Amino acid sequence: MNAINKADYLWKNGQFIPWDHANVHLMTHSLHYASSVFEGIRVYNGKIFKLEQHIKRFFASAEQLMLKIDYTPLEIINMCKELVSINKLSNAYIRPLAWMGAESSKLLSPLLSTNVMISGWEIDTPKSQPLNLCIAKWINIPPQSIPIQCKTGGRYTTMIINKAESIKQGFDDAILLDWRGYISECTTSNIFFVLDNTIVTPIADACLNGITRQTIFDIAKKLDIIVVEQHITPKLLLKYQECFITGTAVEVKEVRSINFTALKDQNIATEKLYNNNLITKIVQKNYRNLVNEQSSF
Ligand code: PMP
Repeated sequence: MNAINKADYLWKNGQFIPWDHANVHLMTHSLHYASSVFEGIRVYNGKIFKLEQHIKRFFASAEQLMLKIDYTPLEIINMCKELVSINKLSNAYIRPLAWMGAESSKLLSPLLSTNVMISGWEIDTPKSQPLNLCIAKWINIPPQSIPIQCKTGGRYTTMIINKAESIKQGFDDAILLDWRGYISECTTSNIFFVLDNTIVTPIADACLNGITRQTIFDIAKKLDIIVVEQHITPKLLLKYQECFITGTAVEVKEVRSINFTALKDQNIATEKLYNNNLITKIVQKNYRNLVNEQSSF
């Protein structure tokens, strides 16, 4: 289990401050009501990957939560770069966060401030063992309840309890179904399947349209691999030959098995095994090459 690798400084409301001075008041609104938005961004060899796309999504998430960030996207982009530079980050994770302050305990008040911080810390290379997934106990929050492309803390309650439940049962992570019963995403990643050299993934109408997901589309296009976005029922999973998940933190990870125990009543075989993840390995290799080539600075 890895503790966070403290960097020297983080950026908060316009200033670089020492990591250990980065505190908030216990009455902070977002601590009580999850009224925050955030991003997760990767740094490879000192360069930031897909920075503009992440900051664009950060501002779009903030707007959906009616958080008014007092900085421009370009200012936040520049602060991310400066953060990497002053902390001498090399292979790292960057976390911009916007949150409501401690000025009121009401659900909404004009007194509430919007705060912004950016932190970043060195990380270890993600583990490469194939994953064992299960079907999640709790379904994903429907897009009718929270805007689905909004990366708000509130959306992650479902993810935390599903992750905890999957680990308790001996799995690595869980695949959440959407409110219609279709496959949507894992707790911090998108999911892909392979059938006869075609890549299949859920339509992003009930899951995050991940930046890594979009990068996989670009890679597949370059490799002349067809990508199909479609609604996928759990029963369909039995026919796919490969499965992988994607996300900024997990990158591209092979899936070894899916267990269907949460769907006992739906007459589905209890386990699907994936042995020969050929397309997955090609996509993985191309993703690795891309992050090393295309990080922007
Ligand atoms: N789905 C969820 C729920 C996530 O938290 C993430 C990670 N941000 C993803 C998908 C993958 O998104 P991205 O590729 O933009 O990191």
